Amino acid sequence: MDPNKLAIGRVVHFVLPEGPNVGQCRPGFVVRVWSQESCNLQVFTDTGPTQRENDQMGPILWETSVLHNQNRTAGTWHHWNECPDEQ
Ligand SMILES: [Zn+2]
Repeated sequence: MDPNKLAIGRVVHFVLPEGPNVGQCRPGFVVRVWSQESCNLQVFTDTGPTQRENDQMGPILWETSVLHNQNRTAGTWHHWNECPDEQ
């Protein structure tokens, strides 16, 4: 099985589009697959109960029709093994 096949329940990296940690990766849980390039994600941020900690946003972001991009463009997703931080 292709480890990079996009499927419901897989976890990918989502690149934060805003906030103090813009450009950093956070885990995105795949909840709908539109194609192997586009999906909907529930993204788990690094924040706390007041939402003023670290990422300073809600604890979970619903991101729709997110596009794949290997260059870590803000607001896109990539597979963890495509991430420079993992290599
Ligand atoms: Zn990443």
